[in-house]
Amino acid sequence: MTDQDLQRLVEQISLASFGKPFTHRAWFNYRLRTTGGRYQLTDHSIEINPRMLSEHGQATLVGIIKHELCHYHLHLAGQSGQHRTAAFKALLKQVGGLRYAPAPQTAAPKPRRWQLYECTRCHYQYYRARRLNVNKLVCGRCRGRLKWQRTVMAVTRPQAN
Ligand SMILES: [Zn+2]
Ligand SMILES: [Zn+2]
Repeated sequence: MTDQDLQRLVEQISLASFGKPFTHRAWFNYRLRTTGGRYQLTDHSIEINPRMLSEHGQATLVGIIKHELCHYHLHLAGQSGQHRTAAFKALLKQVGGLRYAPAPQTAAPKPRRWQLYECTRCHYQYYRARRLNVNKLVCGRCRGRLKWQRTVMAVTRPQAN
């Protein structure tokens, strides 16, 4: 979804749910972290966190847009439009906007180092999180000597072949 698509969507929701046009700018702000969206009092623009769509889907996106449009329309009507006001709560409930943005998903897991060992006799391979003492340990299959091969980066233990 582009900024242009978002702009159109905000305009549609504004007319359909609030009965008033949205005549300012809406855009995806990739720098928003935990906030779902933001209404700028200075230029009346609406910023939306793109993760609300990519991580939570269309319904959440629409709920966030409705929330920001509550701020927008109340502000343009000369009201404060703050979260705690009765007017904000009533309008949000009326249009079915989201009270809070859902928590962003946990960070993507980081890959870690795995040590690859191979049996010098049967060539069976072992991935281990830690380095092994190849002078002490032997192959679990044939009791042959193990030899370190290389370090591999992966989130979970790679499949031995
Ligand atoms: Zn808000
Ligand atoms: Zn072996």
